[in-house]
Amino acid sequence: MNDPKETLGDELHSLAKALTRPYRSITGEGVRESLRIIQKHIPLKIREVPSGTKVFDWTVPKEWNIRDAYVLDPGGNKIIDFKKNYLHVVGYSIPTDSKVSLDELQKHLHSLPAQPDAIPYVTSYYKEYWGFCMTDRERRKLKKGKYTVHIDSTLEKGSLTYGELIIPGRVKDEVLLSAYTCHPLMVNDNISGKVLNTFLAKWLMGEKRRYTYRIVFVPETIGSIAYMSRNLKTMRKRTIAGFCLTCGGDERAYSYLPSRAGDTLADRVALHILKHSHPDFIRYSFLDRGADERQYCSPGADLPVATVMRSKYGTYPEYHTSLDDLKLVTPKGLFGTYSTLKECIDVLEQNYVYKTTRVGEPQLGKRGLYDNLSVKGSFFSFKNGQYMSDFLAYADGTRDLISIAEIIGAPAQALIEIAVMLRAAGVVSRK
Ligand code: ZN
Repeated sequence: MNDPKETLGDELHSLAKALTRPYRSITGEGVRESLRIIQKHIPLKIREVPSGTKVFDWTVPKEWNIRDAYVLDPGGNKIIDFKKNYLHVVGYSIPTDSKVSLDELQKHLHSLPAQPDAIPYVTSYYKEYWGFCMTDRERRKLKKGKYTVHIDSTLEKGSLTYGELIIPGRVKDEVLLSAYTCHPLMVNDNISGKVLNTFLAKWLMGEKRRYTYRIVFVPETIGSIAYMSRNLKTMRKRTIAGFCLTCGGDERAYSYLPSRAGDTLADRVALHILKHSHPDFIRYSFLDRGADERQYCSPGADLPVATVMRSKYGTYPEYHTSLDDLKLVTPKGLFGTYSTLKECIDVLEQNYVYKTTRVGEPQLGKRGLYDNLSVKGSFFSFKNGQYMSDFLAYADGTRDLISIAEIIGAPAQALIEIAVMLRAAGVVSRK
């Protein structure tokens, strides 16, 4: 017997595994290859922004590609091999082919004394530099002598690549889902974000929705800035809520990071779902920001973008190291975050403003609604009966579903079903 949950969790995890293969940075072939892997699931458009393009206050950098990188010890043994672990090379390292002393090599090595078995993730996007990363345990074994360093990379005019998919809804108002594409290898930060974005898009495409969905895969920071420089006018006009998708694959507690405004529809729905479905979640402040919400929520962009994740970037021991791998991220962890984000979207889709069509309490009994409520053990338990009565008491045409759910202490998902019944009976209208 295949449990559908397990099957889907495994599918999410196997896409995560497939995405560990391409080497990614903020530009380069690995990003394109990753987007092509995602295209096997959803009809993503791949777009290019040429190097040198001005995007707001930034300039799209040269494109960086790497084929190989290694270090040979004085005996000619390969002690660092990029092909064994992509994190061994500092991202955006300029090409080099030389013999250096141990002292010189040390200036270009990065390790974590406090985590002696982890290879750190280091980049140098905007300063020309070359370097290697290794475990501190291996670094401590290095002996004096001449080392051969070889980095076969290119840094030249090319472009920055991003992926985009617009899923049209019944209205033009949009929900933004954004994941970043620039990290190599590491799974919670951020392969999990790409996997969640892919599978949420796949699910959203399954039926016609109320909202239009803007699904984007961009390199962090420069990519979201480049993307907004092309699309901000439309995004500002249409975006009703958005989510950054990152760090969604481990099994630890959920985390919530608000938008700058803190009280947007994205914040309200995220907080509501987490409070009801995962009450042990960790609540961060916008002061703890660190991913593309920095751009989306910046003054002038002002987009309503919040983040629902598991272990937040920067807070978990495996973060930005080789330990952030396919063991830390599990099918169960990925599936949980996927389901939680789906719940947020389901509630957004049904978040109308409701109004009773009767003065005084409507007579539920004559419409068969009250009887339904009092059947013990049925879906409409006593609790749901109370929810129905409370929902009607607050459906005054000024409050949306989430507001009413918050006031009456009910999960919004329960109110969705109640609202459907009451609308069918003609006792509430919605707008
Ligand atoms: Zn990161």
